[in-house]
Amino acid sequence: MNYSIPRGTYDILPSQSHKWQYLIRRFQDLAAAYGYHEISTPIFEQSALFERSSGSSSDVVQKEMYRFLDRKGREFALRPEGTAPVVRSFIENSWDKTQGRTKLFYTGPMFRYDRPQAGRYRQFWQYGLEFFGSSHPFYDAEVIAFLWNFLSSLGLKKIHLEINSVGCPNCLKEYETALKAYYHPHLDELCGDCQNRFEVNPKRLLDCKVPSCGVIAQNAPSQLDYLDEDCRKHFEQVQHYLNLANIEFKVNPRIVRGLDYYSHTAFEVIFEGLGAQNTLAGGGRYNYLVQQMGGRATPAIGFAGGFERLLLALEEEGLALDTDLVPDVYAIAMGESAQKALMPIIFYLRNQGVKVDYDPEKTSFKAQMKAANSSHARYCLIIGEDELSSNSVILKNMETGEQQNVAMDKVSTHLLQIL
Ligand code: AMP
Repeated sequence: MNYSIPRGTYDILPSQSHKWQYLIRRFQDLAAAYGYHEISTPIFEQSALFERSSGSSSDVVQKEMYRFLDRKGREFALRPEGTAPVVRSFIENSWDKTQGRTKLFYTGPMFRYDRPQAGRYRQFWQYGLEFFGSSHPFYDAEVIAFLWNFLSSLGLKKIHLEINSVGCPNCLKEYETALKAYYHPHLDELCGDCQNRFEVNPKRLLDCKVPSCGVIAQNAPSQLDYLDEDCRKHFEQVQHYLNLANIEFKVNPRIVRGLDYYSHTAFEVIFEGLGAQNTLAGGGRYNYLVQQMGGRATPAIGFAGGFERLLLALEEEGLALDTDLVPDVYAIAMGESAQKALMPIIFYLRNQGVKVDYDPEKTSFKAQMKAANSSHARYCLIIGEDELSSNSVILKNMETGEQQNVAMDKVSTHLLQIL
């Protein structure tokens, strides 16, 4: 029997793996600079957690969750997103009662039974950040600035930031009435999902990806016209802080985000040139979620992005992130005695973090030199019979072709200095 990888999943092969490591490291480093700490939650949780948080009418819960029963018949789900588990942990650890501001970030796989296509998978990796403990608009701007700086510092140029305010339950009531009044004459033209949304969650009508529904959504009333005084002021302040942080943005009243728990600020970073799956990352405030999940009322804001789309975007802009694959040094030994002399140097350098490649199965000088050339190593370290007898090595700069003899016991220190 031949086994194949499940549809909508992929292996991260060695040729790609270093790119993932690089992006994860960049994310972790930037998070540390902003004062965020890493949290890792389980891959599976009680299904009810997501039903309660994301909203039982959301697409994620209704159609996309991988659900299973354990041996005792309890219902679990592979996590479709990271916020609900982090909120669960936040409450379970009583941080809602014991901590003021809490700054958390995570990276890890998420699972959604989605229709696979470029940029959309059934197992995908998200990077995300959650801030708890203040509704000050400064933090909205901080979280957005973090995301923007993470993406733009990778060199991406074709990205832009869109923000919106989806208001609070107080403004939503009036807005939903206006939305329903607008959509009512169009009911027959809406897709099946939207007919359901009309009843259960009219705000989601704006989020439908079916083109004919999109056309109707274009003239729908804007949430921004229905914000109450507090929400309007909050949104103005968020924009003020974004301006102070020098972050360019566009207000797009159509952003509602797919999950139920958002309030106030919602935002997305869009990449121009990825087709339909062009949202690199998105997020927003969720001031009511902690309380809704049983904790003490705690305002919060966060975002999540997918590494897959980010890698596609980087590739599209010619930002290959390939440097990590190239060895610093390619080592060549001519004969057994030379190999013996070379071994301690290779392992010493590697232990110091220098990337050294060596292939004991290639014995001729020509084959080893060919391998050194195709590895694109910066330096080549050669020990032959002459070098053995003079206790030295040849160090060749592969860019300039320049070579020099260096004493065998000095070469490691020398390389560590010049690399
Ligand atoms: P969401 O949790 O739906 O707001 O998604 C946040 C980000 O996660 C998106 O902008 C994508 O970058 C990524 N993402 C969501 N769903 C998928 C998926 N099925 N495959 C790949 N990436 C995804």
